[in-house]
Amino acid sequence: MKYPVYERFYTWQGEGVHLGRAAYFIRLYGCPQACPWCDSAGTWHRDYRPEGVTLMSAEELAQAVRAESPDGAFVVVTGGEPILFDLAPLTGALHALGRRVHIETSGIAPLRGDLDWVTLSPKPFGQWPLPEVVARADEVKLIVHEPGDIRAGLETLEGLRKDAVLWLHPEWSKARERDAGVLNAITEAVKDDPRLRAGYQMHKLYRADDLDVRSDKRLIPLGGNPGLGY
Ligand code: SF4
Repeated sequence: MKYPVYERFYTWQGEGVHLGRAAYFIRLYGCPQACPWCDSAGTWHRDYRPEGVTLMSAEELAQAVRAESPDGAFVVVTGGEPILFDLAPLTGALHALGRRVHIETSGIAPLRGDLDWVTLSPKPFGQWPLPEVVARADEVKLIVHEPGDIRAGLETLEGLRKDAVLWLHPEWSKARERDAGVLNAITEAVKDDPRLRAGYQMHKLYRADDLDVRSDKRLIPLGGNPGLGY
């Protein structure tokens, strides 16, 4: 089988428990969630669709990872929605290189593949994560576009492990504008519930991904495009 690869690039992880660590990103094409602030619209929205999406086998991707990043850098498979694909061949090929493999997903289908780290980002207004993916999550990233997103997101997490790390991330357009309503809601939520942690997309401050010529530099709207309905 071949995977539709929207983009791939070497950078560092800008979010979550593995913040700041060297990471190779594989961004697969396709997502049915249509989030109202998607910052990866090129992976699914017709108006930002690239001219071509590269089809690559697990072995071809593993060779690219080996050629384009040093040993020790882990691999993040993201999207779009990577959980739609059977990742078993890919995780097998990457493990054969000695690379650890992480996934970032909204959890809407069964996980296929031997993942070393699962970051779950539920979309409460769309399809909810499957209970089996919630139970497997190592960390959760709730995107907060409005203060009510915090409670809505937490409601999707029945069965979450007690040792899973729970992040609240301001949606990027809100973070960039320093939206006090969203940022203060996160602060108050963390103070009320010490399970929660306040997060941020640090790689966007650094513009770290842009340094790799393979990353997508098109000006796809960050924070959605209200004129297009998302
Ligand atoms: S934010 Fe993620 S889950 Fe939502 S539409 Fe974009 S790629 Fe899909």
